[in-house]
Amino acid sequence: MDNCIFCQIARKEVPAKILLENDEIIAFEDINPVAPVHILVIPKRHVNNIMDPVLAAEEQLAAKIFSAIQEIGEKTGIKQEGFRVVVNRGPKAGETVPHLHFHLIGGRDLTWPPG
Ligand code: 5GP
Ligand code: ZN
Repeated sequence: MDNCIFCQIARKEVPAKILLENDEIIAFEDINPVAPVHILVIPKRHVNNIMDPVLAAEEQLAAKIFSAIQEIGEKTGIKQEGFRVVVNRGPKAGETVPHLHFHLIGGRDLTWPPG
């Protein structure tokens, strides 16, 4: 999508600190990190959100997202101490960017329940 900020990052029209990239997935540092490690994992193609039917229909896409999440867990070292994977969906959850993204948050103690 032309004016989607994450599509623009995927197309390299907007700069980001990229940690992982393959044919379908890109992972980059969040511009406003809430923890020492805060990475966003997204499909390069525009997928609206976690409720988008394409996720259930195209198993390979979901598999690639989870493979990238595992890779980021290894690469950043957060898998040892623990980390959190978050998808915010809708206004009550604070979703602000309408392109599917998985937050990987780690590097500090994380409280539960989340706010
Ligand atoms: P949401 O609130 O939708 O779950 O998460 C959107 C995330 O995208 C936020 O944590 C925000 O800081 C991040 N973000 C928004 N715009 C940009 C950007 O232009 N570059 C990067 N790297 N992150 C962004
Ligand atoms: Zn997009």
